[in-house]
Amino acid sequence: MDLYGGIEAGGTKFVCAIGRGPGELFARHTFPTTTPEETIAEAIAFFKEHGTDGDLVAIGIASFGPLDPNPGSPTYGYITTTPKPGWANTNIYEAIQDAFKVPIGFDTDVNAAALGEHRWGAAQDVDTFIYLTIGTGIGGGAMVEGKLVHGLMHPEMGHVHIPHDLERDPFEGACPFHEDCLEGLAAGPAIEARWGARGETLPENHPAWELEAHYLALGLVNFITVLSPQRIIMGGGVMQNKKLFPLVRQEVQRLLNRYIPVPEILEHIDEYIVPPALGGQAGVLGAIALAQSAAH
Ligand code: ZN
Repeated sequence: MDLYGGIEAGGTKFVCAIGRGPGELFARHTFPTTTPEETIAEAIAFFKEHGTDGDLVAIGIASFGPLDPNPGSPTYGYITTTPKPGWANTNIYEAIQDAFKVPIGFDTDVNAAALGEHRWGAAQDVDTFIYLTIGTGIGGGAMVEGKLVHGLMHPEMGHVHIPHDLERDPFEGACPFHEDCLEGLAAGPAIEARWGARGETLPENHPAWELEAHYLALGLVNFITVLSPQRIIMGGGVMQNKKLFPLVRQEVQRLLNRYIPVPEILEHIDEYIVPPALGGQAGVLGAIALAQSAAH
């Protein structure tokens, strides 16, 4: 029986699983992200323990970034310039490859989640769409006409620059590289720094949410006009506040001002901007999907 391994390598936790898809995950292990050596060793130990010899045909690594997903590059498989202490220039791909000698799929966490949603989730009926996560940071994965977008490196949608009205919002922004890019204004740490409380503790009618929806919608309008996605999937901790979805949809319609005259945006926006169908499993299932793509 062919089995696939998935590693969701996140900045705060790793999730490893063995299986074949939703409802077919046979083992799963979550542990905190510490040093690269310790964390990668724990992932390897999990697959050694649960991957019956010969059954584990490929492993997918869905990693936080920035990373190098270009197989022709000397630093392919590296997490590259991350500000996360100890993790810059970590060759996660080779560490896993050396331990298992099976095909390894490697991509960003958000590209992998997009692949998983395309195979099993909220994007099964489209082939050009984006997957965004709004949490500790903001990341975006993109599929265009059935292929994940890499190009120069990979998309970095969290770092688009958006209008910032300093009178409405004097908060200077939290991105260490750009201050008030989208991530700097709208990721979880920005919400906490601006309002002095974590997003999940703010009441639903707090003005934080209208401002948050405004910033996210500005980002979405840029992605819609550049990439023409047929769907937008939004996950991550900040989007757990379900009141945000209607606010974001309404603001996207207002900002576009009927300029993109398609029913998806004008009439059915509830089915256009949606949460991930795979929920909290989108990440690790995306990694399993990467493994399947690497094997075939
Ligand atoms: Zn930035």
